Amino acid sequence: MTLAVAALAGLLGLMVGSFLNVVIHRVPLKQSVVSPRSRCPGCGTQLAERDNVPVLSWLLLRGRCRTCSMPISPRYPLVEALTGALFAGVGLRFGADWAVPAFVLFTACLLAVAFIDLEHFIVPNKVLLATVAVGGPLIVLAAAADGWHHLRDALVAAAVGFTLLLVVNLVYPAGMGMGDVKLAGVEGLFLGYLGIGHLLLGLFLGFLLGSVGGVALIASGIRTRKDHIPFAPFLAAGAYLALLAGEVLLDFYRR
Ligand SMILES: [Zn+2]
Repeated sequence: MTLAVAALAGLLGLMVGSFLNVVIHRVPLKQSVVSPRSRCPGCGTQLAERDNVPVLSWLLLRGRCRTCSMPISPRYPLVEALTGALFAGVGLRFGADWAVPAFVLFTACLLAVAFIDLEHFIVPNKVLLATVAVGGPLIVLAAAADGWHHLRDALVAAAVGFTLLLVVNLVYPAGMGMGDVKLAGVEGLFLGYLGIGHLLLGLFLGFLLGSVGGVALIASGIRTRKDHIPFAPFLAAGAYLALLAGEVLLDFYRR
């Protein structure tokens, strides 16, 4: 059963990844994610259905537009494959659980935010709001089936995540922006469903990855000390790790 859920989630992830590419490309440009259909930025040709198959199309076209041969960024198949893999991970970890729809939506949000912040140094409100608007009801439904204490924990953790990072932001404004603060609130809503420990672990892992990553980027000369280093990708990675491995890590810590 768990394998079936993982396989389904993985397939869904490939398709959602395709949509996330649109979100990652268009939301920072303030364009609609619904219409028009995707076009090649080189020649303006609308993408045919057969050229829109996640990962496969890019491989078959060898990373070039069918009409004008302009290179298509490898980010497109990468986001699709990654979304598929991370969704499958959620399926493997939780199996047939009521919270799986909320958790795959959360995973999609983390991916979109991470890639947008990497390129534009922003965490768009639009993505966070859409995640809460769709994910909130999913959380309520899951809590109705699994126990209302999940909903209480989720709401408390959302407030805790937001407040904790708000304090960090006030103390050390250069380290993170308000986007990261709001992201921490959203992380609380979803990770908190599993208990507040999951949120605290997720934030801890985010800060850990952020400091290690920041030092590595500066040491390797990819970034200088003066460059802005986006924090949301690290927060997102920490949150996903806590979602999947939180139970094991927290058990280990308690013992
Ligand atoms: Zn083209």
